[in-house]
Amino acid sequence: MTENRPAKPQSGRHNLDPHLDRYAARTAGMTASEIRALFAVASRPEVVSLAGGMPNLAALPLDTLSAQVGEIIATEGLVALQYGSAHGVPALRDQICEIMSLEGIKAHPDDVVVTVGSQMGLDMVTRLFCDPGDVVIAEGPSYVGALGSFSAYQANVVHVAMDEHGLVPEGLREALRQTEKAGKRAKFLYTIPNFHNPAGVTLALDRRAEIVEICREYGVLIVEDNPYGLLGFDGQTYPALRSLDPDNVVYLGSFSKTFASGLRVGWVLAPHAVREKLVLAAESATLCPPTFNQMIVSRYLATHDWKGQVKKFRENYRERRDAMLSALQQYLPPGCSWTNPDGGFYVWVTVPEGVDTKAMLPRAVTARVAYASGTGFYADGFGSRQMRLSYCYPTPERIREGVRRLAAVLESEMDLSRTFGSVKARTIPGPETPSPDTV
Ligand code: PMP
Repeated sequence: MTENRPAKPQSGRHNLDPHLDRYAARTAGMTASEIRALFAVASRPEVVSLAGGMPNLAALPLDTLSAQVGEIIATEGLVALQYGSAHGVPALRDQICEIMSLEGIKAHPDDVVVTVGSQMGLDMVTRLFCDPGDVVIAEGPSYVGALGSFSAYQANVVHVAMDEHGLVPEGLREALRQTEKAGKRAKFLYTIPNFHNPAGVTLALDRRAEIVEICREYGVLIVEDNPYGLLGFDGQTYPALRSLDPDNVVYLGSFSKTFASGLRVGWVLAPHAVREKLVLAAESATLCPPTFNQMIVSRYLATHDWKGQVKKFRENYRERRDAMLSALQQYLPPGCSWTNPDGGFYVWVTVPEGVDTKAMLPRAVTARVAYASGTGFYADGFGSRQMRLSYCYPTPERIREGVRRLAAVLESEMDLSRTFGSVKARTIPGPETPSPDTV
C-alpha cells in the first residue's frame, strides 16, 4: 500500500536517510513544530523570547527541596530508586485527588494514573481512542503538543472557534453535525478550558454545562487538559468539566506549572471503565512513572506550603501579564488586537490583514525578538495573522523591550504590505541542533 507510506521529501538533508522507505506510515504526521525549529535561535541571550512557554521556577525553595530530596534517599532510598507500579505511587494519587477537589472533582485514587507529564497522558489517550482517520475536535487554535499527538496517531483535527469566553458551543454542535454528515467518527473533544494555551481565554461558566451536554448528545468523549487551572491571577478556580460529567470526561493534570516541569509528573483521571486500559497503555510506554520523582512531589506536597508557593507563582505571572498588556497597549500599531488572560502564560495577538506572522518571524528574530507564529497552533494552516506571546519567563523589563521591538517590526511589515501587498512566507532558518520544545 504505497499510498500509505510517508511522502519522500524531494530535497534537503532528509534525502540522506537510508531508512526512509522503512518508516511506518504514521511517521508522516511526525514533523517538528515551528516552535521547536525556532527554539535554538530564540534562546540566544540578545533575543527577547516571547516564544517559549517555560514556567518561571525562580521562586522555588531550592534549599528546602534539596534537603527533602536528600531525606528521601537517606530514609527511603531503596524504594525511591526501584521500579514502582504503572498506576503510580499510592500516596501521590491520594494527594492528586485532594488537589482536583479544588476544582470540584470527586475522584477515587484508583482512577488516577500517574504519567510522565500530561503530555504522556495526551499520547496515551489518543493511542487508546483514535484509529487513523478518526476525528478529534479541538479548539482553534490549540496546544501544539496535543496536535502533535493527534497527528502521530493519524487522527484528523476539526477546529472549533473560540471567542473571549472560550469554546463556542454552537460551533461545537455544528462541527459534530458536519462530522456526522461526512460519515466520520468524532472520538473526542480535546479542550483546555482554563487560561488556554495559546489563546489565553477561559471557558465561561454557563458554557461548561452546555458543552458537556452537547458531547453527551453526540456520544463524544471529552478530554479536558488543565495544566493552568490553579494559575488564575486572583486565585479564582472554575468547576472542571470532569466535575460535571465524571463518566464522560478524561481529565489531564500536571505538576509542571504548579511545581517543577523537569520532574515530569502529571496524571490522567479516567472514567472508571477506562482506567484499566490506561494502566496497560502506561505500562507498555514506560513500565512505570519514575518512583523517585513521584516521591519528591509527594513529600513536597505533604511538607511544604505548596498552595502558598502556587500563590507566589501566580503573583509572578500576574506582574508579567500586566507588563505585557500595558506594553501591547502602548506600542502595538492600530489594527492589532489581543486577548486579556486572567491566568496562565499566554496572550494571543491578531495582526492586520496583509501581515503574515510566519513570514515576519525571521525579521523579528533579526530585530532580537521572538514569538510563536499562529499557524503552528492549527492543524489546517490557519493562523497566519496570529501569534502567541508568552509572558511567563522574561522579566517585566524584557517583556516591555520585546514588545517594543516587535511593534517596530510590525510597523515596517505593515508599510511593506501597504506598498507591495501581502508579504509571502519565507523559510525560517532552521537551527542545526534544535532543543526540545517544552511548550
Ligand atoms: N497541555 C497543555 C495545554 C500545555 O500547555 C502543556 C505544556 N505546556 C502540556 C499539556 C504538557 O505539559 P506537561 O507534559 O509538562 O505536563
